[in-house]
Amino acid sequence: MGIRIAIDKQSCASSGRCVKAAREVFQFNDDFLADLIADAPALDRDRAVEIARACPTQAIRVFDETGEELDP
Ligand code: SF4
Repeated sequence: MGIRIAIDKQSCASSGRCVKAAREVFQFNDDFLADLIADAPALDRDRAVEIARACPTQAIRVFDETGEELDP
């Protein structure tokens, strides 16, 4: 089991940064809010943390395999 990513859609400001950074993992839903693609390939943990840090509203959270939040 790898890392887990969670998106707080209520916090998403639709900047598109995560979608641009990893189109294989993030997409916009019909409301133009970031969403995870089902069955997406696992993201490398450093890349996931980097993408979470780049989110302007901290809407993306990354957890390791033990459920611990990375770089909260
Ligand atoms: S980077 Fe953050 S604010 Fe921008 S689309 Fe992704 S989740 Fe939403």
